[in-house]
Amino acid sequence: MSSVKLAVIVGLPGVGKSTVLNLAKRILTSKGYHIEIVNFGDYMLSYVASQGLAKNRDEIRRLPLHVQRKAQEEAAKNIRRDLEAKASSEDKVVGFVDTHAVIKTVTGYWPGLPLHVIKNLMPNTIVVVEAEPEEIVARQLRDKTRYRSDYADVKLVKELLSMNRMYAIASAVLVGASVNFIMNREGKADEAARRLAEVIEGL
Ligand code: ATP
Ligand code: AMP
Ligand code: MG
Repeated sequence: MSSVKLAVIVGLPGVGKSTVLNLAKRILTSKGYHIEIVNFGDYMLSYVASQGLAKNRDEIRRLPLHVQRKAQEEAAKNIRRDLEAKASSEDKVVGFVDTHAVIKTVTGYWPGLPLHVIKNLMPNTIVVVEAEPEEIVARQLRDKTRYRSDYADVKLVKELLSMNRMYAIASAVLVGASVNFIMNREGKADEAARRLAEVIEGL
C-alpha cells in the first residue's frame, strides 16, 4: 500500500464521523486528492450478512464475540486488498477508514484496532472525532436511520469519550501513526472537516 496514505477515523456512534468524512472528501477532492472512504462496518456486514447472521451494521456488535472477531479480521484484510488495488492505478490516493477504536459488546469493551487489524491497515494517522456528550446522545436519538440506543446515555458517553482516546493512542503506538482529536461542534461539521483536511494535507 506504499503510495496510499491512510487515515483511520474513530469516535463514538453518532458523534458524526461519516458526516465529517464526507465533507472532508469534498474539500480534498477540490484540491486534487482522490479520496476513498471505506466503512469498516460495511466490510464486516458483508461477511456476516452472507451467513445470514445480521441484517444491518448495528446488529454486528450484538453477535457472539468469536463471530465479530472473524468478521473484523476479514474486513481488515479485504480493506487492505481494495486500497492496494487503488494505489496501483492512482497517484494522490488517500483512504479514510471509518471505524471504531473501541466497541461496546455484551462481553465488555472490545478493541476495534488490535494488532491484527492495525498492522493490515498501517495508517499514517488516527483521528478521534469528539463532541459534547449531550450533543452525541441527541444526535443518536435524532438519527432514525440507525439503532444506537445501547450507547444513548450521557454517563456512558462520557466514559467512552476518554476510553476512545486511550484505545486510539494504544493502537497508534503499535504502528507509529500520529493521533488527532477533532471536535465536531453542533452545526459545525464543516469546521471539523476543514481541520481533518489540514491533517491529511500534512501527511
Ligand atoms: P456511527 O459510528 O454510528 O456510524 P457516525 O459517527 O458516523 O456514527 P453520523 O452518522 O455521521 O455519525 O452522524 C450521526 C447523526 O448526527 C446524523 O444524523 C448527522 O446528520 C448528525 N450530525 C453529525 N455531525 C453533526 C454536527 N456537527 N451537528 C449536528 N448534527 C450532526
Ligand atoms: P458504524 O457504521 O461505524 O457504526 O459501524 C457499525 C458496526 O461495525 C459497529 O457498531 C461495530 O459493531 C462494527 N465495527 C466497525 N468497525 C469495527 C472494528 N474496527 N472492529 C470491530 N467492529 C467494528
Ligand atoms: Mg458512521
